Amino acid sequence: MLDHVHIDLPERRLLIHGAWTDAANSLTFNTSNPATGEVITQIAEAGVLDIDAAVISARRALDEGPWPQMTGVQRGRILRRLADFIEQDRENLVVLEALDAGKPLAATRRQDLPAAIDCLEYYAGWADKIAGEVIPARPDALTYVTRQPVGVVAAIVPWNFPLMNAVWKIAPALACGCTVVLKPAELTPLSALRLGELALAAGLPPGVLNIVPGLGNVAGQSLIEHPGVDKISFTGSPQVGKHIMATAAQQCKRVTLELGGKSANIIFADADLDAAAHASGSGIFFNAGQVCSAGSRILVQESAHGALVERLVDRARRLKLGSPFDPETTMGPLISAVQQERVIRHIARGLEEGVRVACGGEVHGEQGYFVQPTVLASATNDMSVAQEEIFGPVATVIPFKDDAEAIRIANTSRYSLAAGLWTRDVTRAHRTAQALRAGTVWINTFGPTDTRLPWGGFGGDSGVGRDLGRTALDNYTEQKAVWLHLGKAA
Ligand code: NAP
Ligand code: MG
Repeated sequence: MLDHVHIDLPERRLLIHGAWTDAANSLTFNTSNPATGEVITQIAEAGVLDIDAAVISARRALDEGPWPQMTGVQRGRILRRLADFIEQDRENLVVLEALDAGKPLAATRRQDLPAAIDCLEYYAGWADKIAGEVIPARPDALTYVTRQPVGVVAAIVPWNFPLMNAVWKIAPALACGCTVVLKPAELTPLSALRLGELALAAGLPPGVLNIVPGLGNVAGQSLIEHPGVDKISFTGSPQVGKHIMATAAQQCKRVTLELGGKSANIIFADADLDAAAHASGSGIFFNAGQVCSAGSRILVQESAHGALVERLVDRARRLKLGSPFDPETTMGPLISAVQQERVIRHIARGLEEGVRVACGGEVHGEQGYFVQPTVLASATNDMSVAQEEIFGPVATVIPFKDDAEAIRIANTSRYSLAAGLWTRDVTRAHRTAQALRAGTVWINTFGPTDTRLPWGGFGGDSGVGRDLGRTALDNYTEQKAVWLHLGKAA
């Protein structure tokens, strides 16, 4: 059925020390197309021995290899070349994300690819600007602080933005002179493998970036336990994130965890309701709701609740579900049958708790893992559909009375990743933004991210630390204080 699409599959083996290799135990796993359920191809499955080889390779590249010895300018040049190669290969990558992750072509063109390229260019610019400082502690000493690479980084990423999330980890780590072992999600390994091909072509020396597709509980688990790993940078579920933090604690490894969200999107009655409804629809339906910062709790001031729900339903009905390869498609499938069942179960539980289905609520179509865009209205914040991360195209709309109640509802959540608010009152906008417990607050918009801005949660089930921005350089560097004794001036 994809006869009209040119598909150029990447390498399907492991990238270890600059060479493509089969798994030591010769195992493979399937990756499938979520729009049809069909198997696309088999991928070498990294086992314990392969992870060991990948970490040893990354250690060698760090301790003996050319990467940390290069100047920042040279490292930056290679990262910029990788950005250029991604740019040249963009359509191929867009097709791979559509095939493997079910992402509509237009959305990946607009969002994931530009973001990945921008991220590499941004950190390429940092590579020769990572500086220490002289801190004059005492008159009898020259005291200064340098920044050194944190070491071997394990980057473990999920399936919802496969290429972009991988680049968010790799770009700052490499700019800082670290070496990396990347484990892509088992459901979406293809774009990471293509990234490996492009990285080799761009001149990344052997071992600097190893790519080890495989299963979380095998490849992922042995990677986080490996004593050769200094730092774990993880994006994924709270459950696995907490397990990683506990495991890392055994060796006091550093961790950055980007986990889930149940972001509140607050619409005050004085807002531009058409604009709010439009952007709030995108905020929950983009990527079929499989977005950590999805605006899944839409808080609407009572007097505007009916009007907003009506507009949101209209927005949902206009979405066109279908093949990610169809240019008309505006919403693709969920990633897997498991995810589809989970979303339907969440909706059923909401119904038992008394929420009203304003639209959607069911599986869509005969094949693939589609779910109808769904609006659940007149919810209360104690319902499971207001507290659990559904990770599907399901908006839970909760009415509120006044500013204080909106803030209280928004902050009553295990999550703290992002929030949005809509008002024409500038004082209310800033006052509310200050009061929200969230790593990002959007005012009169919902969802944009930028490489230059830090990204992460305020703790709880949204995780710890920040990706992106200047802050991410701290994730991948250690500080060293150097003390040179000068003695007394003659
Ligand atoms: P997940 O199950 O936690 O998987 C994430 C990654 O961890 C995958 O590569 C997975 O491998 C691996 N993994 C699983 N078990 C592991 C273990 N024991 N040791 C090491 N690695 C292990 O998450 P997901 O279901 O794929 O992704 C959805 C979640 O990610 C949502 O909760 C969402 O909110 C969150 N997310 C957060 C952000 C953010 O920036 N905060 C961004 C995107 C997604 P397998 O693929 O083989 O399971
Ligand atoms: Mg797949």
